[in-house]
Amino acid sequence: MKTTAYVTLVATFFLMCVVRMWWTMFLLFGVALTLALVVGKNRFCSDLCPMGALQDSMGQSAAPRRRIASARWWKFLLVPLFWGATFYSTFTYHHDPPVLWVWMLRIMISMFFLAMVTQMYLGRRFFCVHLCPLRHPVLEPARRSRNHLLKKRGPA
Ligand code: SF4
Repeated sequence: MKTTAYVTLVATFFLMCVVRMWWTMFLLFGVALTLALVVGKNRFCSDLCPMGALQDSMGQSAAPRRRIASARWWKFLLVPLFWGATFYSTFTYHHDPPVLWVWMLRIMISMFFLAMVTQMYLGRRFFCVHLCPLRHPVLEPARRSRNHLLKKRGPA
């Protein structure tokens, strides 16, 4: 596990579980999107993401990577579920931070559980490759658009 990812993991735990800052996940997403737009690479995934760090920490216990033909479609189920639950909780409980915190924690733990189970049975970073609700609909399009625009503009 990279030191930077370990630091983010500890900081995420501190902010979410000690400070009880319900918007910890949004803070992480903001950092990830900013990095994708500024650097044009998936630096967040490789160096900072606490979920990636947790998957890497399993190391040798990960299953050999399995090829599942339908796996590329699974994100179309998970992504709407994740963002639906996240936005619904935020708008429904924004006036009640302790309740909202519980919902955010549930969502984060569900994603963590899914990442661990898929890593154990389907291969290393299966969640990142096929399922991540941040990478597929947000980070990848942002990174590609940024690089495409810069390429079109040409050298300054
Ligand atoms: S793909 Fe998602 S879970 Fe994996 S490292 Fe990137 S942001 Fe984190």
